[in-house]
Amino acid sequence: MNFVWTRTAVILGSALLAGLIVWPLFGALWAIVTFGLGLAAALVFHLRNLHALLVWLRDPLKNTVPIGAGVWEHVFAALYRLVRSFALQRNRVTAQLARFRSAAQAMPIGVVVLDDEDRISWCNVTAERMFDLDARKDAGQPILNLVRQPAFAGYIKSRAYEEPLTLRISRVEALVLTVRIVQYGQDEKLLLARDITQAEKIETMRRDFVANVSHELKTPLTVVSGFLETFSEGNIRPDEPRGRQALEMMRSQTDRMQRLVEDLLMLSTLETSSMPARETQIDVETLLGGILEDARALSAGRHQVQLHVGEPAQLWGDEQEIRSAFANLVSNAIRYTPRGGRITLSWGRRGDEGVFSVEDTGIGIESRHLPRLTERFYRADTSRSRDTGGTGLGLAIVKHVLTRHQGRLEIESDLGRGSRFVALFPARRVNVTPLSRSHPELEKLTRS
Ligand code: ADP
Repeated sequence: MNFVWTRTAVILGSALLAGLIVWPLFGALWAIVTFGLGLAAALVFHLRNLHALLVWLRDPLKNTVPIGAGVWEHVFAALYRLVRSFALQRNRVTAQLARFRSAAQAMPIGVVVLDDEDRISWCNVTAERMFDLDARKDAGQPILNLVRQPAFAGYIKSRAYEEPLTLRISRVEALVLTVRIVQYGQDEKLLLARDITQAEKIETMRRDFVANVSHELKTPLTVVSGFLETFSEGNIRPDEPRGRQALEMMRSQTDRMQRLVEDLLMLSTLETSSMPARETQIDVETLLGGILEDARALSAGRHQVQLHVGEPAQLWGDEQEIRSAFANLVSNAIRYTPRGGRITLSWGRRGDEGVFSVEDTGIGIESRHLPRLTERFYRADTSRSRDTGGTGLGLAIVKHVLTRHQGRLEIESDLGRGSRFVALFPARRVNVTPLSRSHPELEKLTRS
């Protein structure tokens, strides 16, 4: 400020000094004229700078700060510093806002900012997808015009947002959302939506599973407890024929429960980890030889059971799991093939994949059941499955085992004619044995 006064004093002093120099030479009039001209020049100089300042002030953010001389140089320099620091601050705030927006965009939950009249101010891509919105076109639109669900409208209007709302949206694919509203500022709202479709599906599966297990256990338990009551009341004795029959039925029902528990434990082990625990080289011929033997024992001469090993091979995998999967397919073929039928087990190649197949001439399966056969407790023929001691979990186990070995299951069936279950393994799990080792027991078994 002192500086301004000093400058002003210097200008006035200079004009005065010029007047005083002129006075003795040209008289008082010329001295006054010189002094006046000095003042006028100073005025013009200031008016020009003032004009430049006014022009700049019309749009200070767009126009560049003028360059001045003298005192104006300092004024404009100060203004320039001010503008620069303002621009820097503005850039910083813009960058922060952009960062905040991109964070909100990246959030896996839907975010919609609503104004005091429930109009959309902003929303992220997740919210666009969930509510079928367009952030640009729908900005300023009341959300209730765009999300037209009575439950949603009721929730927004209720102004009671302590509890979240569960919203079901059925467009191309059904979507289940939990919607929460957080109020802030002057009746502005933040709508947060979380996709719980998958969690709901898992919860439904869990409920169905518990209901199925309870249902499976109920019948055998009712049979066993009924007979126990009859025994304890002394109505029948274990040593009489009726008693022996009852004991036999109790045994078969407890066997059934035991099989169910074993299969459930197996499934739970398979589901706990995604990788087989103990992988080794399995000699396919030896493994299938054992399975063929078990199959013939299970069939008890009611079927013709054959094995063809096209190419002796080593399979890399968990022996216990593979054995269980193959045995399940074979036991199904026996259980669903009437007396006199033929069951053929074979090992070979399809392209570079290893293939184990079980073909039967049994009752077959209607094609509508095929896609669901590997679901837990899904049965195409419920009464036959139960009568033959099925748990409804066999094919679920097979599918799990194959998936853990990067393999897959194919099912072909003709109702009334028979079925073919094919387990395929990727090439990297299969090694062809260079020299076929001879297994005397296998040869004996396959010949018989
Ligand atoms: P289950 O213990 O009931 O046999 P699985 O999971 O092994 O359970 O099989 C599911 C269903 O698939 C069976 O209930 C049966 O209806 C059908 N199924 C499986 N294998 C065969 C087969 N070889 N022939 C006919 N139906 C079969």
